[in-house]
Amino acid sequence: QPRKRFGQNFLHDQVIIGRIIDSIHAGRDDLMVEIGPGMGAITEPLLKEVNRLTVVELDTDLADSLRIRIGANSNDGLTIVKANAMEVDYRALFQQIIGDYPNDTTDKKMRIVGNLPYNISTPLLFHLLSFADVIEDMHFMLQKEVVDRITAAVDSREYGRLSIMMQYYCETDYLLTVPNGAFNPPPKVTSAVFRLRPYQQKPIVADDEKLFALVVREAFNHRRKTLRAIFKKSPILPAVTEHQLVAWGLNPLARPETLSVQDFVTLSNGIAANGIAANSIAANG
Ligand code: SAM
Repeated sequence: QPRKRFGQNFLHDQVIIGRIIDSIHAGRDDLMVEIGPGMGAITEPLLKEVNRLTVVELDTDLADSLRIRIGANSNDGLTIVKANAMEVDYRALFQQIIGDYPNDTTDKKMRIVGNLPYNISTPLLFHLLSFADVIEDMHFMLQKEVVDRITAAVDSREYGRLSIMMQYYCETDYLLTVPNGAFNPPPKVTSAVFRLRPYQQKPIVADDEKLFALVVREAFNHRRKTLRAIFKKSPILPAVTEHQLVAWGLNPLARPETLSVQDFVTLSNGIAANGIAANSIAANG
């Protein structure tokens, strides 16, 4: 019986499962990690393609029945971690996976996949981003509406804080739309599969990433206001004059949704150059 509190909607559509597996392009030696394997809809076909697969499942009953379903063969490459994916230290997990294969000298990073529990989607993504240096890529399924926001282009209706934060750290790709009938029980909304590829070398770098995140958050708290008005009214952000905005190449009358990732980096670098760091803003605000 699926447990609602764990966001359990199990995939049963074999065509969709096949498409998801194809989109991952798994290699034999990849360090594959699956979050929320459930009854193994993705786990079983994936295990046929890779030598080692580590899964993280919160529901211990499901984890136990997965072990039985796949078989108790300890050489099958499947490692089951019973844990909350939101609390996992993915750097420690990475070290553990590497440690289990001491003869593998390739400098591989983890590849993470999952049909995620939708109720924890954005906090989980932000948690994972803090381990971007040990992650090669991530293939996830989430509600389409969230995937549209993550992959949105500047100045589109879905563009916002989530788009900017994800696109600052990662290349993002929308891969496929999944109708709710592909699941049991069917969720209320349409889903979509997407890919995040953390940049090995970010194309644009904020001098103070905390400040960057703060500026983005505060700007989109006032989505309908102009930059000029946001800096005039925000109790959190420091004063930035219209003159300074122009000097940084930004239009004081622009609204947040028309600013690119580059524009937000310019903005936060300008504020940082004024001598104001995120820590001091947090302390004052
Ligand atoms: N991958 C399976 C499939 O496609 O059929 C199950 C997908 S279901 C949407 C989400 C899975 O994540 C469930 O197995 C659920 O128990 C598990 N889960 C929920 N919250 C979790 C958490 N915080 N950490 C790890 N797994 C979690």
